Amino acid sequence: MDLIVQKFGGTSVADVPRINRAARRAIQAKQDNLQVVMVVSAMGKTTDTLIDMARQINPDPPRRELDMLMTTGEQVSMSLMAMAIHAHGHEAISLTGGQIGLICDSVHTKARIQKIDADRIRKELAAGKIVIVAGFQGIDEAGEIYTLGRGASDTTAVALAAVLKARYCEIYTDVDGIYTTDPRIEPRARKIQQISYDEMLELASLGAGVMHSRAIEFGKKYHVDIHVRSSFTDSPGTFITHEVEQMEHIVVSGVTVKKDIAQFVLVGLPNTPGVAANLFVHVAEHNVIVDDIIQTVDDNGKASISFTVEKGDLAECKLVVEEIRRQYAGIDVNIIDPVAKVSAVGVGMRSHTGVARKMFGALAAAQVNINAITTSEIKISCIIPPSDADKALRAVHEAFGLDQQPA
Ligand code: ADP
Ligand code: ASP
Ligand code: MG
Repeated sequence: MDLIVQKFGGTSVADVPRINRAARRAIQAKQDNLQVVMVVSAMGKTTDTLIDMARQINPDPPRRELDMLMTTGEQVSMSLMAMAIHAHGHEAISLTGGQIGLICDSVHTKARIQKIDADRIRKELAAGKIVIVAGFQGIDEAGEIYTLGRGASDTTAVALAAVLKARYCEIYTDVDGIYTTDPRIEPRARKIQQISYDEMLELASLGAGVMHSRAIEFGKKYHVDIHVRSSFTDSPGTFITHEVEQMEHIVVSGVTVKKDIAQFVLVGLPNTPGVAANLFVHVAEHNVIVDDIIQTVDDNGKASISFTVEKGDLAECKLVVEEIRRQYAGIDVNIIDPVAKVSAVGVGMRSHTGVARKMFGALAAAQVNINAITTSEIKISCIIPPSDADKALRAVHEAFGLDQQPA
């Protein structure tokens, strides 16, 4: 019997009628002769509310206790969902990350999945039940509880779909698919019918909050077909798949903006082998995720290294640069907080010219100053002042004609 995974985000389980609606979807799939695994997020804005409460009690709560607190949100949803399915006359069981054998590493609030021993899920499915799993959580080898990073219920779902060899993984959310940019910022954004894993991975890493980026990594690696769709309608959403030839013809598929970042600039470092390596050994030891690394050498032969980090890693990264400052006398450290980053993404960039010209031209016309530029094969990113973020996004979106129907 084929198996599917259905993930329901916070808005899709925000109240009792929505939980019932999600339950009916799963039951319908079961009646269509599929085995069904549901992954649920915490109801509505529960995770935000829990974090707010924690910060009122302690401005810098221990990360272990934050994990203990946050994981309760998903447990509320999963048990209510199981009750809803029972009320509709069907068998269901809810399970925590620990109970499904989702083993992760031991980094509180941003643990990474290491393996999933899905025997328990298979046993419950074989007994005819719909299995409901708490998203965004796991345990380490010692049995400690961890969360997998904000938005990571997507990752739980796609990882389970991979392990269970699901026919596909449905991500039910509050938009009816992936758009050319966040429709809340640019109402003229268009829905994309099909997008490659590589593009979606870039978009997600660069700020498109609609999917967690590690979910896309799993999807690509284990060939999971992902369908992002609305929990409020039955119309098809966006399919995330391997690249197909016609995708090459679209130069830019999407535009993103990321606002929750800070930039570190270290000036006056020795320009000798091992300095960058030393810096990023310290960064890695503190489990800080960095991006947009740029190194330059000035006229005096000194090196400057700049990089960006997400706000959540800011305090930890300040500790790292203090360690570095002690090692290299006389260096200057500037922290620009906050900065924003606007990016254009598309696999067509590999084979088309003029993309940089169009992007920089659009920002110039909108009077947006660019502080740094980074590129990969399929994206261009510009670090810009946060006050210009939304304006920059709209300008770049329009410059690539993303508000128009493709020819
Ligand atoms: P869920 O709780 O279902 O996981 P999220 O809030 O995490 O939902 O993701 C859905 C939201 O992502 C949308 O409401 C939308 O504002 C935002 N979003 C950002 N970028 C995009 C994009 N490119 N396409 C669609 N939605 C986007
Ligand atoms: N509830 C968690 C969050 O808000 C996980 C998720 O929704 O994916 O980040
Ligand atoms: Mg989400």
